[in-house]
Amino acid sequence: MTKLKKEEILPLKYIKGIGPKRAEAFAKEGILTPKDLLFYIPRAYIDRSSVSSIMALAVRLRQQDFFDNTNNQIAISLYSEITIIGRVIQKNIHSYGKNRKMLRVSVTDFSNGRANILFWNYIDYYEKNINYHDYLAISGRPQLDRGIITFHHPEIEHIDKEEEERYLKGTILPVYRLTMGLKRAGINLKLLREIINNIIEKELQNLDECLPYYILKKYDFPLLKHAIRMLHFPKNMQEIEIAKKRMKYEEILFFQIMLALIQKKYKFKDKGIAFLDSSPNAKKLYKILPFELTNDQKKAIKEILNDFRSGFPMNRLLQGDVGSGKTIVAVLAMLYAIDNGSQIAFMAPTEILAEQHFYTLKNFLKDFDINLVQLIGGQKTNIRKDILEKISSGEANIIVGTHALFQSEIQYNSLGFIVIDEQHRFGVAQRAELKALSEISYSIEGISPHILIMSATPIPRTLSMTIYGDLDVSVIKEMPKGRKPIITKIVFESQLQQVYDFIKRIINKGQQAFIVYPLVEKSEKLQLKSATEHYDLLKNEIFKEFKCGLLHGQMSWKEKEDIMLTFLNKGFNILIATTVIEVGIDIPNATVILVENAERFGLSQLHQLRGRVGRGTEQSYCILATKDDYQYHFKKDNAVEERIAAIIRLKTMAETNDGFEIADVDLKLRGPGDIMGTRQSGLPNFNFIDLINDGDIITTARKDAFTIIQQDPELKSQLNIMIRNKVIKDYHNSIYFHIA
Ligand code: ADP
Ligand code: MG
Repeated sequence: MTKLKKEEILPLKYIKGIGPKRAEAFAKEGILTPKDLLFYIPRAYIDRSSVSSIMALAVRLRQQDFFDNTNNQIAISLYSEITIIGRVIQKNIHSYGKNRKMLRVSVTDFSNGRANILFWNYIDYYEKNINYHDYLAISGRPQLDRGIITFHHPEIEHIDKEEEERYLKGTILPVYRLTMGLKRAGINLKLLREIINNIIEKELQNLDECLPYYILKKYDFPLLKHAIRMLHFPKNMQEIEIAKKRMKYEEILFFQIMLALIQKKYKFKDKGIAFLDSSPNAKKLYKILPFELTNDQKKAIKEILNDFRSGFPMNRLLQGDVGSGKTIVAVLAMLYAIDNGSQIAFMAPTEILAEQHFYTLKNFLKDFDINLVQLIGGQKTNIRKDILEKISSGEANIIVGTHALFQSEIQYNSLGFIVIDEQHRFGVAQRAELKALSEISYSIEGISPHILIMSATPIPRTLSMTIYGDLDVSVIKEMPKGRKPIITKIVFESQLQQVYDFIKRIINKGQQAFIVYPLVEKSEKLQLKSATEHYDLLKNEIFKEFKCGLLHGQMSWKEKEDIMLTFLNKGFNILIATTVIEVGIDIPNATVILVENAERFGLSQLHQLRGRVGRGTEQSYCILATKDDYQYHFKKDNAVEERIAAIIRLKTMAETNDGFEIADVDLKLRGPGDIMGTRQSGLPNFNFIDLINDGDIITTARKDAFTIIQQDPELKSQLNIMIRNKVIKDYHNSIYFHIA
């Protein structure tokens, strides 16, 4: 929004219908100029063809039988906003206990359906302002409460007589977001519409088009000024669609152009180490591999080698589901780097995983003249000293460890390639630190190492395109041949005995099982099962003829490691654990994972847990146990939304093994901020783009943006002059931004 100098404040007050008081209310919302008003786009539109009748909505809500006959799509659509229009037929206040009050307003519409609106806050305000016979637009996420559609604290907009007539005649009514502040200043839908109507034509003249003609033509987009007019005064619903599409595209295109510029700058400013020699060691390993690489693995390797040769530092994310075979891709790349005179630091998130990687690598490289060392905590002083010496002399080729690899005490000899496993939150700042290590080891200022970040956390397409905009991404989608997809089943607690019998049969075949609980210890507050409590029960009663181990996060890493290794060596038949095993070592002989209170786990967590099995050749199973009452129609209680979400999670797990599909559902359920952690994510607040549903537009715009910058890095072509102008005008403050 526009920033103004003090003396210019509130230019809006001179506009007809506004005045100083309302100008101030607008200013509080960040609307300071007529142009800001122009970009105050309606939140929703109502017209007789698109608004749901209350009756139709009730029918839809009743059809949500989540276990039997709904597909997730419908259930999830309930998470988006729905608008209805109705006339107030009843209003009353209920008191609870001493101080608690609730206002209930009932409305009806032409379909004779009925909906209740409940308010728990600002009761006095709503009680005063909502009256019998008022005509209201109600937007929110409805639920069924004893068969009646119920909105909790929806957005309410009054529709006056004149607007109502327009609506009934078939005009589309735009609904603007009116905050309490705006409403209190006497701004209502009709007034806002009139104000915008008064200024729009003049203001549109001042609006610069920012999309070049070739883009407008390619997608048949309207001009910016036409799009804005359509959004405020649409002739039909189709116009709204067309205009929105253009605005979304524009928004994400410029965002992606900034990312492309950042990437370009990052790559050009920093010197990379060009690995130009071919690699006899990589060739040799490739020849003796006991399996054929998948096409996606081959493609990822090709992309990495292109980066190596480019002379610019690689910043690549290698994404692939658990078990998709990322490690071998990294190993081949490492050999290539070694043959080009580089050392490699290979970082794992935990000591156990570092250890497992160390042995995996050793196994792959047993017939190679390659020196592998391991840096972990608790190593004896003289051993550690010896290792540090090998690192600084260059004798060590590959150094495996945890984040301790990046302590300044460690002197690398020629650190040109860094591999980071199972980290998807490795940001720009951390990457900058690694750069220093390379600079020192090579004694070349400005030199950056090649970085490969591996992640099995499936990140939804739309998010990885935005968050990792400055990283190149290689994706392994294809699983190695011959893998049997894991079979996932949802069971209810009353069926657990059958599950235990099933696990016994599996163990009798010589295989192993995980049983996972949400808690370490019994908790008074949470009615959830705990690992320690059930460990005793399972060990002493249910599985008394078998050996059980216990693993949880409150153990020291040494204890954890011992237990994991014992399990790996078949010292236990069953490992009873918490989610500590989520990212864990490979136990190919484990073929069953039972997750208890599965409703309590997030989707990506469940998916990671499932990834603990299915790593060998036997058929594997993931069993998700949940409460019995989840079988039945939902009884109404406050946790209904959480329950719906839990059921969608479980169903999704049962329906697909594809991590990316799972990630998309997760995104729908939780929203982007929650998945990435809003603060670290660096996600901008998009006005038009919906990260959940606009995957296609994002893909298209990203491709266009990167092509534009590749062909015209400085945006100097006459064709792109409009893009250049907007970038300079709107983004000149960006820390990254720099074009000549
Ligand atoms: P992740 O991507 O989860 O790190 P890994 O790299 O640990 O997966 O690979 C899982 C298993 O699959 C390993 O035992 C690995 O040797 C094996 N593997 C990798 N690629 C292939 C392939 N193309 N064909 C068969 N097995 C493979
Ligand atoms: Mg791995």
